[in-house]
Amino acid sequence: MLIVMSTQATPEEIGEVAARAESLGLQAHPIHGQQRLAIAVTGMRESLNPMVFETLAGVIEVIPLTLPYTLVSREAKAEDSVVMVGSVPVGGPHFAVMAGPCAVEGREQILTIAAAVRRAGAHILRGGAYKPRTSPYSFQGLGREGLEWLHEAGRESGMPVVTEALDERSLDVVCQYADMVQVGARSMHNYPLLKACGRARLPVLLKRGMGSTVEELLLAAEYIVSEGNRAVVLCERGIRTFAEHTRFTLDLSAVVAVQRLSHLPIVVDPSHGTGKRHKVVPMARGAAAVGANGLLIEVHDDPGHALSDGQQAILPEELAELLQQLPVILPLTGKTLAPRATSATSA
Ligand code: PEP
Ligand code: MN
Repeated sequence: MLIVMSTQATPEEIGEVAARAESLGLQAHPIHGQQRLAIAVTGMRESLNPMVFETLAGVIEVIPLTLPYTLVSREAKAEDSVVMVGSVPVGGPHFAVMAGPCAVEGREQILTIAAAVRRAGAHILRGGAYKPRTSPYSFQGLGREGLEWLHEAGRESGMPVVTEALDERSLDVVCQYADMVQVGARSMHNYPLLKACGRARLPVLLKRGMGSTVEELLLAAEYIVSEGNRAVVLCERGIRTFAEHTRFTLDLSAVVAVQRLSHLPIVVDPSHGTGKRHKVVPMARGAAAVGANGLLIEVHDDPGHALSDGQQAILPEELAELLQQLPVILPLTGKTLAPRATSATSA
């Protein structure tokens, strides 16, 4: 339910709406639009009664919302959200490239790749230290030590860093070292983790589950935002289909669907979305052409020896070439490459 306040509403009147909501066991979330203030009220559907609010001073209109999610919807906020990752804006007209290895494998490895992706033009450094691997016998990541090196590599190269948290315990560690926390495809339905991310101080990169609908993705984002953290970037990373020519099927139409339904930015991961190196750059160009807000790409300087996902990692040179091509495509969608961080921004 959305309560539209008069432009002349006083702070007391706004406070009264919030207090009334809270007295009914509901939550009030102010949404500052370009023209006016609206208050989204969330809670159990049965308790959402517009009549309670219609007569309060300063209220212009109470709009019952039709979608199952509220805070992330365009019904609640028409303008695109821009999420700051360190000093890099993601969303709206800004197109940001997050790049780096699947996993941090060692200090030299991450420092070298960080310098290479920065030279290629990337905005944000990625690298996993807690890896959700399909097999328990695959490399599981270096944990805290990996995060220390990722943090150092981000600082050295002048890029904010994004890395995955698998559970609440690793989230606490990630929050000490990173500028953005990734919730992986396998964790999209981990509701305690989503809620913990909602209470964290970092922006969140939320990946679509490989068997999840767009509605389920947006409801997962609603879990995070409803706990108070509005800095959420969605990520399309491919879904499971019958196709055998590709590891997953990269669903670029999800970008278009999400942008109609939600104000949150959405980036595309053509690395996990295809699982094959030769498909990554063409699908990245496709993602830019459909209007995505950025890319998440796995890059390795020695993919043949990578400890995870080497088969889908592109070389730094290939990333550099892609970054040269993006300014040809992006004007078609009204976007430009985001400004890059000028100095280290890691916490
Ligand atoms: C990753 O980004 O390295 C990763 C594990 O991605 P996903 O959760 O999409 O499989
Ligand atoms: Mn990976």
